Amino acid sequence: MNFKLLGSFAMLSVVIVIGFSCSESTVGKREENFDTQKALSNKKTKYHIILVLDGPRYSETYGDSSCQYIPNLGKILKQEGTFFSNFRAEGSTYTNPGHVAFTTGVYQKVSNEGVQLPKNPSIFQYLLKQKKLDKRKAWILTSKGKLQMLENSSARGWWNQYMPSTYCGVNGSGMGYPSDERMFPIFKEIIIEHKPILTLINLLDIDAWAHQGSWERYIKGIKDLDQMSMNLWMSIQNDPEMKDKTALYITNDHGRHLDGHKDGFKSHGDRCEGCQHISLLALGPDFEKNKVVDTKYGQIDLTATIAAFLGVSMPTAKGKPILELIRND
Ligand SMILES: [Zn+2]
Ligand SMILES: [Zn+2]
Repeated sequence: MNFKLLGSFAMLSVVIVIGFSCSESTVGKREENFDTQKALSNKKTKYHIILVLDGPRYSETYGDSSCQYIPNLGKILKQEGTFFSNFRAEGSTYTNPGHVAFTTGVYQKVSNEGVQLPKNPSIFQYLLKQKKLDKRKAWILTSKGKLQMLENSSARGWWNQYMPSTYCGVNGSGMGYPSDERMFPIFKEIIIEHKPILTLINLLDIDAWAHQGSWERYIKGIKDLDQMSMNLWMSIQNDPEMKDKTALYITNDHGRHLDGHKDGFKSHGDRCEGCQHISLLALGPDFEKNKVVDTKYGQIDLTATIAAFLGVSMPTAKGKPILELIRND
């Protein structure tokens, strides 16, 4: 993927920097590569955090123009970053497959019970291997214990290799479903202490309450996670090292059924619009502020984008880097 990726970045620099004039010549190609490397090396982002808010429906988040349940994300943070209004969960719309899409860059129909490993290596494994990093520089932090499987892969040569650090479920044991209220302070502490190059966070409240059929608690979950998202962003801004060097991608593993379809907001897992239409808000020093992108992108494209930033090659990944996200300066 890296070559394709470099090619894509090169194309971007051709369009912007030298137009159509000399792209055919060998000299032009050399210049393109030079521009690409220069463009990537000039980027300020050093730390990447994927924050997965588990399973809100678009109609209760940004799809509601009043943003009544997400005042921080929808009114304040959206102006600080680039928002993707047509971001999609295009694989199986369950929790484990949704997260595996982000970590491996492949839509795999993996078991939702945590008993099956991703068949492709993750961006965490590629990063730790290629950059020879200490495992404390990459973390998977999840309220849902069953997501500990994200650390590993059944791929040949990758099983039990280059695994990131984890804190998943009750006391970091890889089991159970502790509340976000309990887990979030721990996640934040780990991030500020270790300053990981790459982190994935899963917060479960929205999904857990919706499955219990409580609309009130589902909405409270959305409001609480809206506040935690702001809290995390502010904590990063208050850290002298991470401030101005951290990208935060706030997104979802899946949505939920539309009203009138099956049991509505209580469940998810098919290809209805409610399950597939999710969101992505990208905050960070290399992204445009107050920009809305309507182009359709999927979960695996975020993986490709982060891999590009990190200079990590992921030959098994399928997504394409989101060039519209990168500010050109
Ligand atoms: Zn989920
Ligand atoms: Zn559905």
